[in-house]
Amino acid sequence: MSTGCACCLGSRASFAPMPELPEVEAVARSLRPLVRGQRIARCCVLHPIAVRPQRPATLRRAVEGQRIEDVERRGKYLLLRLPHGCVVVHFRLDGQLVWFDSDTISGHVDVAFELERGTLAFVDRRHIGRVQWLARPEENSGIVALGVDAFSQEFTCQHFQAVLAKARRPLKLLLMDQTRIAGLGNIYSSEALWHARLRPQRRANRLPPAEARRLHKAIVNVLRRALECCLRPAPDFRDPNWWFAGLEKILRAYDREGKACWRCGDRIRRFVQGGRSSYYCPGCQQ
Ligand SMILES: [Zn+2]
Repeated sequence: MSTGCACCLGSRASFAPMPELPEVEAVARSLRPLVRGQRIARCCVLHPIAVRPQRPATLRRAVEGQRIEDVERRGKYLLLRLPHGCVVVHFRLDGQLVWFDSDTISGHVDVAFELERGTLAFVDRRHIGRVQWLARPEENSGIVALGVDAFSQEFTCQHFQAVLAKARRPLKLLLMDQTRIAGLGNIYSSEALWHARLRPQRRANRLPPAEARRLHKAIVNVLRRALECCLRPAPDFRDPNWWFAGLEKILRAYDREGKACWRCGDRIRRFVQGGRSSYYCPGCQQ
């Protein structure tokens, strides 16, 4: 990973969730009224790594002069809809959007879109996130492969049970697979399994219908609760240090290794699963 310049280094203090479905949905809902209808007068790529593998000139030429028609979310991707194509933003670990009321920007900025009433900037000090223009969202290999969105009406219990039946993998790894269910990451898959009282190691295709229904309900509820939390307070794009705060209050398993389980008092355990930390309670998750 290249850091590009000295200003690129830096990390957030305390608990800072990686954007999953609720965080990106909160960004989309809050950003929509701020940018919808505005024309992109100029696009500046200050750190070309942020648009890779696209060339900065390709992005610039494609978006300049176009009007932002809408802001959408697909899984963990954010889309700025334009009359011709769209800008796809993938935040990955800790990319974020910052708003400046004028065309004067400050601090670390990777890509700046000068609009009529201000500047929308993509910031990612670690340079893992990406911003690209595509003629169609489906040209992005990650977007075209997305499974059913966990917030969509298509994500029914029946659909979820069909997804489970086809997977021999442990539940937690299946829940995090964006090609099966779009939107869940490490945090909310751990949380949904805690609420459903199921261990992350359980084989997906061996889940009885009653437990599958419990897990489906837990996924939907955990994401809705997190979205409410992400919208109160709503994202403050004018604050360069803004990030989602207070989410740790709703967490019951994630990042709570050694702490007492809220339900049974046993100690939360952590283990590595698929290269990521999984958390569960041995006392009440079966
Ligand atoms: Zn417990």
